[in-house]
Amino acid sequence: MSRLEMRGIDKAFAGVPVLRNVDFVVGTGEVVALLGANGAGKSTLVKILSGVYARDAGTIAVDGTVRRIATPADAIAAGIRLLPQEVSVYPELSIAENISIANLPVHRRFGIASTDRRLMRRRAQELLTTLGHADLDPNRLVGSLGLSQQRVVEIARALAGEARVLVMDEPTAALAEAEAEQLFAVIEALRRNGVSVIYISHYLDEVFRLTDRIVVLRDGEVAGNFVTAAVSHETVLHAMLGRVVDELYPEKSTRIGAPLLSVVGLSQPGCLRNVSFEVAAGEILGVFGLVGSGIERVGRAVFGAESAARVTSASIAGQPYRPSTPRAAVRAGIGFVAAERKREGLIGMLSVRENITAPFLGRFVNGWQVDTQAETRDTRHWIAALGIRCTGPEQEIRLLSGGNQQKVCLSRWMLGSISLLILEEPTRGVDLGARREIYRLIRQLSADGLGVVVVSSDAEEVAGLADRTIVLRHGEIVAVLPGSASASAALAAASQTTGSAA
Ligand code: ADP
Ligand code: MG
Repeated sequence: MSRLEMRGIDKAFAGVPVLRNVDFVVGTGEVVALLGANGAGKSTLVKILSGVYARDAGTIAVDGTVRRIATPADAIAAGIRLLPQEVSVYPELSIAENISIANLPVHRRFGIASTDRRLMRRRAQELLTTLGHADLDPNRLVGSLGLSQQRVVEIARALAGEARVLVMDEPTAALAEAEAEQLFAVIEALRRNGVSVIYISHYLDEVFRLTDRIVVLRDGEVAGNFVTAAVSHETVLHAMLGRVVDELYPEKSTRIGAPLLSVVGLSQPGCLRNVSFEVAAGEILGVFGLVGSGIERVGRAVFGAESAARVTSASIAGQPYRPSTPRAAVRAGIGFVAAERKREGLIGMLSVRENITAPFLGRFVNGWQVDTQAETRDTRHWIAALGIRCTGPEQEIRLLSGGNQQKVCLSRWMLGSISLLILEEPTRGVDLGARREIYRLIRQLSADGLGVVVVSSDAEEVAGLADRTIVLRHGEIVAVLPGSASASAALAAASQTTGSAA
C-alpha cells in the first residue's frame, strides 16, 4: 500500500488542459522528485494535492483510503502539507509556540483551561530531536533564527499536525549552500521517520543526491518515472525536454583571442586577497567557489560596484583600467548582469523595451527626445533573435519567466559596445530548457569576440560552460582549472580543507 496515490488527474484552466491523466504515487518514507520544465504542471499537481485547486477528474488516496480533497483543510486533515516557498512562521513567538500553534496542548486545573506549556515544550523538543536539531532551545524566539532553522520549525509544526506527506516546491531557491545542507539533513530525518516527501527543484544534483525516485512531467503528462539510483542525468533531461538533448552545454572554444582583461592583486578587506586573472577575447572564464568563498565580490569589484575593493593594476583592451564606478566600467566597455535579477537588474514594472534599452538610452536620443520607434525596432530584433517569450516590446518584465528575464538582461548588453561581459549566477532559478538557451547565448557572445566572466557557485555550470575556471576559497585563488576539468574536480578544489590545490 502506498502512502499516496493520485490516479488519472485531469485539470484544465479555461478549457486549456494543464494536466492530463496524471498518475503519481509516493511510498511511505519515500522522497520523490517532481521534475519538469517551466509550465509542465508541477505546481498545479501539488496544488491539487493540497486542496488549493480543484481537479477536473481523478482520485487521491492516502494510506489506501480515498480522500475527498476539495479544500486546504481537507488536505491537512488527510496529512498532506505544502510548504510554501517563503517560510511562514510567527517571528514573535517561541519555537515551541510556533510548533504547537494549530493544536495547543490544554491543561485543566480547577475547571479552568490553559495552555500546558510544559507539554508544549516537551513536544517541541521531541520533534526537533527527530529532525536532528536537538540543540535548538524551544523557548527561543523564532525571529532570532536563521532561515533554514525557521524552515525546520515549520517542518516540525507540520509533523505536530501529523503530516504524512510533505510537499516542497523549490525549497532551496532562497537558501545559501550551508542552509540547503541543513535542509537536506532534515529530509533524511523525515525519510527515516516514515514521512514521505515530494521535492520540486531545478537543481538536478540536489535531486540525484536526495531522492529515491524521479517523476517527470512534460506538457501536463507523465513523461518518465525513474529509480534515481538507476538513471542518468541525460535520460532525465531528455524526458523533461522531450527532444534529444544533444548537450545542455554548447561546445567549448578552441580559438581564444588576445588577452582582453587583466586584473592583478584584486583585494577587498575580509573578502578577497590578491586575486589575479586574465580573460581573453572569445573566452569564457569561470569564477567558482562555495558560498562565502568571496566569488560573489569578484564580478562586482571589477565592475566598480565594491567601493572597498582595490587592484594593484588592471587593464582592458590594452588600456589601463581602475575599477571605480559602474558608470566608468560601462565606459571602459564592461557589462554586468547581477545575480539578483529582480532587485538590481530589471525593473519589474517597466516594459521589455525599456529594460533592454535602459543602459544605452543615449543612443536613442534624437535631438532632445527619446526615439521610441528606434527603440521598439531594436527591441523587436532582440526578442526575435533571442527567442524571448513575451507578448511584445511593451509587456512588463515581471510577467516573464526567469529564463526570459535573463535573456532580456543579456540582450541589453548586446546593444552596447562592450568587450567584456560579467555574469553572476546566470541561471540560478532558471528551468533547464531556458538554461540551455542561455548557455548557447553566452557561447555565441564569446564566439563573437566578447570576453565573458561567469561567476557561479554551481560546479556543474562552470565545468560545462567555462573554457577555464579560477577557484576561490577564503577569498584566494586555490586552483586554475582547464575547460576539461569535471564538476567534481572544481568542487574538490573549492571545498578542500587541507593540502594544496588539486
Ligand atoms: P510548473 O510548476 O511546472 O512550472 P504550473 O503548474 O505552474 O507549471 O503551470 C502549468 C500550466 O498551467 C502553465 O501553462 C500555466 O500558465 C498554467 N496555469 C497555472 N496556474 C494557472 C491559473 N491559476 N490560471 C490559468 N493558468 C494557470
Ligand atoms: Mg511551479
